[in-house]
Amino acid sequence: MRRLTGPRLLVATHNAGKLDEMRALFAPHGIEVVGAAEMGLSEPPETEDSFAGNARIKARAAVAATGLPVLADDSGITVDGLDGAPGVYTADWAETPRGRDFMQAMRRTWDELEARGVPEPRRAQFRATLLVMWPDLHEEIFEGIAPGRLVWPPRGQLGHGYDPIFVPDGHDRTYAEMSAEEKNTISHRAEAFRKLSAILG
Ligand code: IMP
Repeated sequence: MRRLTGPRLLVATHNAGKLDEMRALFAPHGIEVVGAAEMGLSEPPETEDSFAGNARIKARAAVAATGLPVLADDSGITVDGLDGAPGVYTADWAETPRGRDFMQAMRRTWDELEARGVPEPRRAQFRATLLVMWPDLHEEIFEGIAPGRLVWPPRGQLGHGYDPIFVPDGHDRTYAEMSAEEKNTISHRAEAFRKLSAILG
């Protein structure tokens, strides 16, 4: 596996919550994280049907625009009782004419489980794919999974996205009831990052 030495890494996301998580994860390794918005990058359409495919689209666009090593991620939640939906469409379920509304997305997820009469516990997994791409287009891919169950009503004010309805296995609080530090030790992104750590040096 190729090693990532820094000092700068472009993280190809416009999501401030994810960028904060990445900064916290990379800081101990002395790697400065630069965000896509700071570099004036636009968001390419995510047209693939896999997390890795969509991460590759974002990485290619960011490498082409900046010439920097890039970390792109794609993530989402897969719900067993919905045959893996929303999956790569996790963010799309939040889209409204006025921007993203995750309360709408969480409600749709729960309503579809109710409509199908899926018994509890309603199993789900947060999934994160991290793809590092170097300027010569070499890539390394790392995947993390956080298994858990969905609950209703939403609980907690912390975190982002679907955090308020996801209770990870081994816990009784939702992601949104956990501090960033606690979530960062158990999350899907943290697991993918632990795997990625193997190439930091
Ligand atoms: P993308 O990876 O930017 O395409 O977005 C995936 C979507 O999955 C995000 O908009 C979030 O709503 C959701 N998601 C990914 N990771 C998390 C998480 O840790 N907590 C809550 N929602 C998440």
